[in-house]
Amino acid sequence: MPAVSEHRAPPPVTRHDWSRPEIEALFALPFTELLHRAGSVHRNHFDPAEVQVSTLLSVKTGGCPEDCAYCPQAQRYHTGVEAQKLMSTGAVLEKAKQAKAAGASRFCMGAAWRSPKDRDIPKVAAMIREVKALGLETCATLGMLSDSQAQALKSAGLDYYNHNLDTAPDFYGEIIHTREFQDRLDTLAHVRDAGMKTCCGGIVGMGESRAQRAGLLQTLANLPAHPDSVPINRLVQVEGTPLAGTAELDPFEFVRTIAVARIVMPRSMVRLSAGRESMSDELQALCFAAGANSIFYGEKLLTTGNPDTERDLALFARLGLRPMAVVEEASTVHADIVAPAQSCAA
Ligand code: SF4
Repeated sequence: MPAVSEHRAPPPVTRHDWSRPEIEALFALPFTELLHRAGSVHRNHFDPAEVQVSTLLSVKTGGCPEDCAYCPQAQRYHTGVEAQKLMSTGAVLEKAKQAKAAGASRFCMGAAWRSPKDRDIPKVAAMIREVKALGLETCATLGMLSDSQAQALKSAGLDYYNHNLDTAPDFYGEIIHTREFQDRLDTLAHVRDAGMKTCCGGIVGMGESRAQRAGLLQTLANLPAHPDSVPINRLVQVEGTPLAGTAELDPFEFVRTIAVARIVMPRSMVRLSAGRESMSDELQALCFAAGANSIFYGEKLLTTGNPDTERDLALFARLGLRPMAVVEEASTVHADIVAPAQSCAA
């Protein structure tokens, strides 16, 4: 059988001028046609048998003053998440060493802050420097950043910064009231200006319309640079948050969202993030067929035993997929522990 690469069409030009009707038209394609188009785009830019494996260490959990309606880490909701202080650099370093021993090449640190205070930056910078010195790539998600904070993190050696748009501009006000959509865009601009790579996506299934899902993808695809990684989260409904009890999104609609993300951001890593634990193997397989090529591992990667990871590897084996493990642009394994359900970084 000829190699897949022999059938590759010329890669489409990466666009930043998508209109919402164009993206809605992609959503409206027959399911089989949409998957075919997304799969073709996927093959033009990636080996479709490879999946990037990512995880996240929560270096400061809970107690967040923001009101993101989906988030169990917001202190105003009673979700049972206990607020913890920022971990010590030594404790983070220990986790990073474990991550490296587990085969990680990138280490991602997340803190449940609205934004770091300037006095927090030297502490996080120390973590970044120490983790970097281990030979790991570094990634962080700390909330909104000022220009000078982004520059300081870059100087400390930070490679990637995660900051999600969460949802479409016209649905944002239904989900978050403690900051503006423009604040998100400003932080992303500071990150880009500082020379770091961006990880930016959103959450679907929060009660938004299809047009609003299209609006999220339109905004992401029309950023000055496509995010290097695009996490697409499926809402995890957490008791105590305002979105508990939201009508569940049709799983096929989730797959459509993945496929459209792949088409409009052809060179980005499209990541299955929060909500994956509750997906069937068959639904995950459909997402891979639709162009998803990155996942978050289960939260026990750095602890003894990891049945979640074993289940993932078994699924990879059944599907003939393999983890990306090459230190190369957007093809790394990061090893971390995931904060409960979705949060800033999910
Ligand atoms: S998503 Fe992030 S900013 Fe929003 S409440 Fe959760 S931790 Fe805070």
